[in-house]
Parts: sequence; C-alpha cells; structure tokens
Amino acid sequence: MTLCLSTGSVWRVAGSRGRIGTVHIVEELFSGLVDGVELCFIDPEGFEKFELDEKSIKFLKGMKYNSLHAPIIEYGKNTQTEKILEKINKIGQEINLKHVTFHPNHVKDFSVLKKLKFKTCIENMRFGERHKGWQFPKEINEFLEKEKDFGFCFDVTHAMSNGIKPKEFLHGLEEKISCVHLNATEEAGLHSHNFVFSSSKQVQEKIEPVFALRVPLIIEVAVEKEKIQLIKKEISFVRKKLA
Ligand SMILES: [Zn+2]
Repeated sequence: MTLCLSTGSVWRVAGSRGRIGTVHIVEELFSGLVDGVELCFIDPEGFEKFELDEKSIKFLKGMKYNSLHAPIIEYGKNTQTEKILEKINKIGQEINLKHVTFHPNHVKDFSVLKKLKFKTCIENMRFGERHKGWQFPKEINEFLEKEKDFGFCFDVTHAMSNGIKPKEFLHGLEEKISCVHLNATEEAGLHSHNFVFSSSKQVQEKIEPVFALRVPLIIEVAVEKEKIQLIKKEISFVRKKLA
C-alpha cells in the first residue's frame, strides 16, 4: 500500500523557505515514513518561481510514488496553460512522477491537458460559493465515462463538506479512482482538512471505507506550525489501518 504526503501539509512551517522549502521539510521530518510526495501548488506565482534543487531531485527520485497538484489558473488554449504544462512535464521527468491532479472547475478545455506526459486526474470539489460544480459523484462519473484517459483523485474532506459519506460517493466509482486526498472534516459546510486520527468516532467511521481502496493515499491536511509533528501520528494511524 502506498502512503504519500502532500507538501501542502507543511506550508505553514515553510514560510520564507518557499515552495522548495516544503520539499526540504518533508525530507527532514518525514523521509522514511512515507512512500511518496505530492508537490502541491495553488498560486501560479509560487509554481513559476519553483525550481527543484539537486537535493530534492535525489530525495524525490528515491520515492516510490510522486504526484503533483497543479496550480490554479484558467486552463485552456492560452500561453499561461502552455507554460505551466511544459513546466509540469519538465519537473515530472526529473523525479518519479506518476500523476498530476487538477481542480476541474478551473479547466475550460480538457483537451489541452492531453499534452501532459503523465496520468491526469480531476478532483471532486469542496462545498462553497466559489466552487459550484464538480462536487457530486454523478458529474464526476459522467465525465470519467466520457474521458477514459483521465483519472480521479477523491478528496475526503471535499466530499464530506458537501454532506456526502465517502462510501456513498465512491459507489460505482471504485474502478475509476486513482488516488485519495486523505483528510477529515467534522461536518457538512466545513472543509477543514483535519487529521483523521484526531477526528470523532463518527467521522472516522465514515472515512473507514477509504482504507480498503487499493490506491495511493495522500495525506493532505492543513496544520498549524505547532502541530506539524502530529503528521507522524497520522502516518502511523493510517499505516495500522492499512496493515
Ligand atoms: Zn485535495
């Protein structure tokens, strides 16, 4: 079983060390504990400035499964899209990249993503005004039926923030799922990206079916600086579930 960690989980610790700093922090604190890293980007500026250094290439190449969360822009037939996809291909060739995930609500033209040399996934979106669409399984399923080359990254918190239990969401989608963003939120309407280990029993029970999926699980949490060491607790909690 493959357990990975998103660099987004350590953003609050990296501060001025920037996005490359997040890779260094994952190596410093969690190497040997996870099987892979998801390079997480949201703002395009952070991605444009990002350069892999020798140390990170060596670290990531030694990993079994790396992925990349693409920055958020309007993807379509435009030069910014071209530049970003080119850079993803370049980064991917330097490390052991297995897939790239996009927020589908920002993709105007999915055909442009076919320029990527790596498996491309869409993610279910969270509850919220700015995120209308791509929140429910029906829409995701219809897209994946039509676009067979695309994979699916299931985000646990995003589903639960819309009031859907993972089991209900994944029903019929089991064969199409490529990976999971593992995190937890206590109730619909919230999308707090908490740890699973410290969640309530009810929430843990709802998340349980995710551990039976035979796909890479990527810990993607939003944690305060002081709680960063607790990621180790989350890793061992999940390892026990997968054992
Ligand atoms: Zn996610």
